[in-house]
Amino acid sequence: MAELRDVSRRYGDVAALSGVSLGIEQGELVGIVGPSGSGKSTMLNMIGTLDRPSGGTVRIAGHDVLSLTDRRLSALRANVIGFVFQQFHLAAGVPALDNVADGLLYAGPSLKERRLRAYDALERVGLGHRLGHRPHELSGGERQRVAIARAVVGDPRLLLADEPTGNLDSRSGAGVMELLRGLHAGGTTVVVITHDRDIAASLPRQVEMLDGRVVEGART
Ligand code: ADP
Repeated sequence: MAELRDVSRRYGDVAALSGVSLGIEQGELVGIVGPSGSGKSTMLNMIGTLDRPSGGTVRIAGHDVLSLTDRRLSALRANVIGFVFQQFHLAAGVPALDNVADGLLYAGPSLKERRLRAYDALERVGLGHRLGHRPHELSGGERQRVAIARAVVGDPRLLLADEPTGNLDSRSGAGVMELLRGLHAGGTTVVVITHDRDIAASLPRQVEMLDGRVVEGART
């Protein structure tokens, strides 16, 4: 599903990633752990094709990211990858249903179809009763559920989550992890950055980062 070979990423003098090689098979559930600044988000952005490497190769779902045009890269992202972030990144003032429906804008179905699929996705995350609620009317845990519904409304094969429980109390966080496990059980490949040692320890595979390198669990 994702293959990084000797990937580096520099920001000026800072080597955010150095010589990272990592393979993730379809259907895995992987935790990325490591101290702040160790390169976790940079690596997730590489896997998500939000960023291109300074050196090395990144292959996602069989495509060499460096060889794709921006347009093809956007299509790959829209069709294959879903993203969940610590800060939810929902549109303010927009009802949950439309926040989720907007996750299908690129794919191009009609508004009616997008809303139907958004409704299904919200049902799947247990929020079928919150369709008209705007983000500020929802709890943190509910907001993250909406964000997960938006990420999966297009049925991505790969779901990337950057500290999805970082802003949540432990109970809401556990609920979000349950959802991610359920998606994994349904066949989605899930990669999740977490600071939470208990969450990390509960995942079938952990990749540990330090100073821009993978120090444990690379399995290339
Ligand atoms: P983590 O997710 O593990 O906290 P990051 O991947 O965010 O680590 O950052 C790795 C290193 O790269 C850090 O030293 C960080 O300051 C640097 N870095 C990340 N993004 C940028 C950027 N856009 N500009 C400059 N430096 C960055």
